[in-house]
Amino acid sequence: MALIIIVAVAFAVVLVLGTGVGVATRRRSRTGGRPAHERRPAPPAEAPLGPAEAPVATEPASAAEAVAAAQATADAGAGAAVEELRAHEAGEGGTEPATLERPVLRDRLGKARRLLGGYLDGIRGRAVDDATFDELEEALLLADAGLATTTKVLDDLRAKVRSGEIEKAPEALLAALRADLEATFSGDSPELALGEGEGPTVWLFVGVNGVGKTTTIGKVAARERDAGKRVVLAAGDTFRAAAGEQLETWAERSGASLVRGAEGADPSSVIFDAVAHAAARHADLVLADTAGRLHTKVNLMEELRKVRRIAERPPGQLTEVLLVLDATTGQNGLVQAKQFTEAVGVTGVVLTKLDGTAKGGVVLAIRSELGLPIKLVGLGESVADLVEFDPAEFVAALFG
Ligand code: GDP
Repeated sequence: MALIIIVAVAFAVVLVLGTGVGVATRRRSRTGGRPAHERRPAPPAEAPLGPAEAPVATEPASAAEAVAAAQATADAGAGAAVEELRAHEAGEGGTEPATLERPVLRDRLGKARRLLGGYLDGIRGRAVDDATFDELEEALLLADAGLATTTKVLDDLRAKVRSGEIEKAPEALLAALRADLEATFSGDSPELALGEGEGPTVWLFVGVNGVGKTTTIGKVAARERDAGKRVVLAAGDTFRAAAGEQLETWAERSGASLVRGAEGADPSSVIFDAVAHAAARHADLVLADTAGRLHTKVNLMEELRKVRRIAERPPGQLTEVLLVLDATTGQNGLVQAKQFTEAVGVTGVVLTKLDGTAKGGVVLAIRSELGLPIKLVGLGESVADLVEFDPAEFVAALFG
């Protein structure tokens, strides 16, 4: 009898444990095992360039269709189309709203701080002399602040020491350096402008391949969706098949719509369709991806100029042309910034991958030599890893 009771109890325990594990497993698979803000899209597989596919817009792809939809919307009093977009945004079809938790800049700038910190510690321990300025120069150059900016900042410090404006002591010198670095960005605002007229606002993202354009668009889409905006993504990088796929994943995750052309399609036509699509559905914002490289002989800058002209056309309101730069490339970013600024009139910079580099000093060069404001910085690969650039926070994070 005792044996029967023991067996029965053991059986019951196994049954209860088994059910518990089943529930836990189901929960994990629904959430991907991680909180929403930590989940990332699967890394895109580089698809080979094949023959052009049929247009794969998740919504109407051609301009004619979109214009017809706009007409139909106007005729129907806009209600149905707006409802359709809202339903999409509400998460039907597997979309989950993102939870964005802002990363701490200081935590992500460890590499840059360690580089600078070594020099600063050396300076703190002794009297200010020529060697102090040499060391500061070396530190700023290694951080990729660039020769022109470094020289300007240090000349200013030397003059202040000479005139007695600042005390000839290490702490006073470093405090003045911090203030000078911060002042480089004075008057800038990280806010991205919205159009004030009728029609969707358009933000165009430009930059060479691999800098993080598509990822940044995904992050911005999540941020703007979080703020309650209706967002349309335009897959204007028709050269790189993986870019379209990547953007599709981001659109699904953030609850944005996607307009995508056939591979190799004219990028301007994709932007045109996306704007028409957004206007027809009373969306607030079009985030337009562009190619960073082309497979034809067409000059990339020529192509981008054309894309810009299309993006400016009503009903679109182009308010931002954002140059995405990879911080790990340091001074190379400055060269790119010059080229893109001359070609398409950049309004601001998004500096990505600041988490993995000591070369973040390039923001100083970009701001002081080109006058371009830094709007956003990328601090990692997940959706929340994009923050507005705050000069005081940036400089404080560098100085430890
Ligand atoms: P695109 O060719 O300019 O569209 O670049 P992608 O968006 O495809 O990004 C290229 C790679 O950079 C991807 O592996 C991204 O995950 C990565 N990436 C983008 N932004 C960041 C960032 O802020 N930090 C880090 N560590 N990686 C990033």
